[in-house]
Amino acid sequence: MLNPDFPLRVTALCTCGGKFTGSWSRGHGGRYAYYHCAKCNVKSVKKQVFEEKFMELLQQLAPKAEEGSLFKASVTDYWSQKIQEINTDASTIDKNIQKLEEEKINVIGLAKQGAFDAETTKEELNRIREKITLLKLDRNELKIEKFDIEYSLNFCIYGMTNAHKLWHAFNLNQKIKFQAMIFPEGVLYDYSTFGTTKVSSIYELKEAISAENSNMVPGEGIEPSCLAAGDFKSPTYTSSVTRASGSHELIF
Ligand SMILES: [Zn+2]
Repeated sequence: MLNPDFPLRVTALCTCGGKFTGSWSRGHGGRYAYYHCAKCNVKSVKKQVFEEKFMELLQQLAPKAEEGSLFKASVTDYWSQKIQEINTDASTIDKNIQKLEEEKINVIGLAKQGAFDAETTKEELNRIREKITLLKLDRNELKIEKFDIEYSLNFCIYGMTNAHKLWHAFNLNQKIKFQAMIFPEGVLYDYSTFGTTKVSSIYELKEAISAENSNMVPGEGIEPSCLAAGDFKSPTYTSSVTRASGSHELIF
């Protein structure tokens, strides 16, 4: 099914709704690779031309330097704000737990003074312990996972900026994974250029930030795919990007 000669056959879509596939043809004393639509087969496109057009699209989508900085600043602001909110909530819970601990000491004091009998003391202490347990559960949910936002953002921006170079450096599986990440619903080819259909939310976010200037913050629910821990920690992806760079000049 997979063919290293035609990495775009998985991603490229024809205007008829069909998917592109690839084949080799003989002629002019050689073998030539072509992409063509598996459904309408209206026209064959030379592999080289097809893939160059795809590279043009990747280059078009790449953030300009100022867009990259804006994107980074905006996401970092949003991130810091979220962390601040979480920290505030956590400290409120901590204070409430502290109050309940003091309440426990008071109950024990009252019991010692004979104001509470054994049964009441036990009930009161159980009531307080239950409250503490519930608060501690809430508190655990607020623990911030160790996540290096700066590293992740540099990684995203590097990936978006150099998508066309990375694509060449990737092996077939990596190309397919990469294409699926950027174009989750495939990418349309109209026999002239590749068009932007649905792009990854990271690109949408970048566009939105550029359009709305630096006051724009990512909306709730937008989860850039390359910021998601799962994708980001993918060993294949990380190592290939590092290898593709060929040097240690990168920030990450
Ligand atoms: Zn077609």
